[in-house]
Amino acid sequence: MNFSDVKSLSNQYLMSTYNKFDISIEKGKDCTLYDINGKEYIDLTSGIGVNCLGHSNPIIVDAVKNQAQKLLHMSNLYYNENQAVLAEKLVKASNMKRVFFCNSGAEANEGAIKIARKYSTDKYKKDRTDIISLKMSFHGRTITTLSATGQDAMHEYFHPFTQGFVYSKANDIDDIKSKITDKTCAVMIELIQGEGGVVVLEKDFVKELYELCSQKDILLIADEVQTGIARTAKMFCFEHYDIIPDIVTLAKGLGGGFPIGAVLCSQKTENTLTASTHGTTFGGNPMACAVASAVVDEVCKKEFLEEVEKKGQYLKEKLSKVKNVINVRGKGLMIGFDVNNMKAIDVLNKCIENNLLILTAKNSLRLLPPLVISYSDIDKAVCILDKVINN
Ligand SMILES: *Cc1c(COP(=O)(O)O)cnc(C)c1O
Repeated sequence: MNFSDVKSLSNQYLMSTYNKFDISIEKGKDCTLYDINGKEYIDLTSGIGVNCLGHSNPIIVDAVKNQAQKLLHMSNLYYNENQAVLAEKLVKASNMKRVFFCNSGAEANEGAIKIARKYSTDKYKKDRTDIISLKMSFHGRTITTLSATGQDAMHEYFHPFTQGFVYSKANDIDDIKSKITDKTCAVMIELIQGEGGVVVLEKDFVKELYELCSQKDILLIADEVQTGIARTAKMFCFEHYDIIPDIVTLAKGLGGGFPIGAVLCSQKTENTLTASTHGTTFGGNPMACAVASAVVDEVCKKEFLEEVEKKGQYLKEKLSKVKNVINVRGKGLMIGFDVNNMKAIDVLNKCIENNLLILTAKNSLRLLPPLVISYSDIDKAVCILDKVINN
């Protein structure tokens, strides 16, 4: 099929939930993508923070091939080695206690919300079920995770929403304090708000929030769906903040492109979910766990994490030197910036013309390159950005 065939077939038969850009990606190798016409792009998107080991990485290809020959799916009614092995790796890497596997970020957050409410109900009886989340947050597209998402624009349709969510300002401890009541059971945060515009939470704010939550036995849920699995040059972004959340959710990078999500629980909440209180058909299937296991082995290496840190610094420094680029921010290879002479979406569109894929987040630009990006691809990408912004 040529591009216009794909486009017209898509527009005829798919629900129009996305305003798509006019390209169709066919294949990729490392940090390079090829569209259906053979045009090459440098990928600074990783399919929105997913393909952390780049495209067609042999580590992932081999894991998929080997497992596909054995067993794709099996129910959670039986024990599974891949699941157990991956659970141990994630627990040891995070200092948490137990894992529940699912298939996506929204599902991981749904799980976290259920755990928080059950923990509180088990201990304090009913009416202690409110969850505070932050304005401009993004926690998913299900009815409950949309409720958790602190953006009015997301609450326009689909009423009635799940009750019990309260929104507070990011980086404003007094605002959170004023919203905590006897009914609060959890606070849910992204340590770096991804979709909200790459808003990095301040260390003092997070540490104070952590103390406050521990004092009041309010659970701190870290939505690390975008920040987790080495994206910020630590296995988990919470390591930058010297805290251990009560619940951590993961998805995007965990399977390196294969769908999988996870909820990690600390000692406090490790036994909250009991038989029949939660479940999933596909979650933790042998295929997803085999791939995620291979990804985790690779990205949790000390040298790998150090490289992500170095490349992140390098990319941020180069970007900061580009004329009209301002507010370069982020950690590791999760980077946001603004441009003071153009709209973000115009920069993005001109980048596509010039063989570079980047992301927007609200009115900012966002870069989530594969964590294995080479220095020469970083150089080329910044060169294209400079050309797009300043010519
Ligand atoms: C992407 C994202 C989600 C939703 O993940 P899905 O897999 O699309 O359901 C939730 N939280 C954060 C922080 C995200 O970036």
